[in-house]
Amino acid sequence: MDDETRCSPRRLRDILSAAMADRSFRYEPIELAGGGRVIDRGPGIAELVPAAPVPDAAATIISAGIHGNETAPLELLLHLAGDLDDGGITVGAPTLLIVGHPASIVAETRYIETNLNRLFTREVAAGNTREHARARELMDAVDAFWAAHAGPGTGEDQRTTPLHLDMHTAIRESRYPRFAVEPLADIETPASVWRVMAAAGLQAVLSQHAPSPTFSHYSRAVHHVVAFTLELGRVARFGGNDLAPLASMADWLAARVSGQPAAETPLEALTFFRVVDELCRVSEDFSLGFDDDVANFTAFEVGVVIARDGEAGETVVADAPVYVVFPNAHVERGARAALLARPVSASSPQASGAPSGG
Ligand SMILES: [Zn+2]
Repeated sequence: MDDETRCSPRRLRDILSAAMADRSFRYEPIELAGGGRVIDRGPGIAELVPAAPVPDAAATIISAGIHGNETAPLELLLHLAGDLDDGGITVGAPTLLIVGHPASIVAETRYIETNLNRLFTREVAAGNTREHARARELMDAVDAFWAAHAGPGTGEDQRTTPLHLDMHTAIRESRYPRFAVEPLADIETPASVWRVMAAAGLQAVLSQHAPSPTFSHYSRAVHHVVAFTLELGRVARFGGNDLAPLASMADWLAARVSGQPAAETPLEALTFFRVVDELCRVSEDFSLGFDDDVANFTAFEVGVVIARDGEAGETVVADAPVYVVFPNAHVERGARAALLARPVSASSPQASGAPSGG
């Protein structure tokens, strides 16, 4: 009944913009121009409810800004919201839009106290930083949404497969600027979803070899929903992103929200990799055998020394070349300093046997 409620913006774009400024407010359901409603599910969490659901169209979670300085996905989210406000897109399937970490977006940093995207299990999230609190909030919202909307999902057709797309940008250069990370969990990605991903401009897929407590892993492992971490180019400041290469990604998001089939292209456009091993920093005396700023998916030939550790000794590439992803020599002792991957066949990246690690 107070003025704040009456004067609150009535546009989805304003609601998400406020969340990105860490100034979320409560709001009553709002009607969208093209049909459908927006429901307040908490700070930075907005549910889209179709007025006329498209039959069999599966639900989607679209999240961005889990790392606060990764802004291109936030700009994609605002464009989507603007199209919904103007009636250019009609909501046809249940959708949850998430602005991941408002405080770190305002601070223009990856995180405030600890990496939010390592906290998505109930056990880990019991800690007391603001990231731990946000992880609990987001898991609660995801639990409620999938409890209502996961449905059976056919596992065959992209349009009837529930999806969680957690959008990021990478810190470093990449030989494949846009790639998907497929978390390890007991659920297969339908081939038609890979074809959509190829049409959306993704260039590579990295299938994980072990569980990792990321946001997309949470949807896969706990809710058995097909989910990915999408790396969509490089980190840039808000407003400084070139969104042209993400136009077909935006089309995919619009198709999901409207409950329509997204474009598909042949799988040849995607290169599939599987993690075969990881480099761990065992001792203080640790170095990588390459420059710190090496591009993701850089290949190293058999015989090359890719790490030296005071206790573990040298790591030499054996059997076949490896591709290095997410390298970082400056991690704590016992932590992962890089992932080592190898190409696998397109048909079943999760099921393909891993070559022996280097
Ligand atoms: Zn990220």
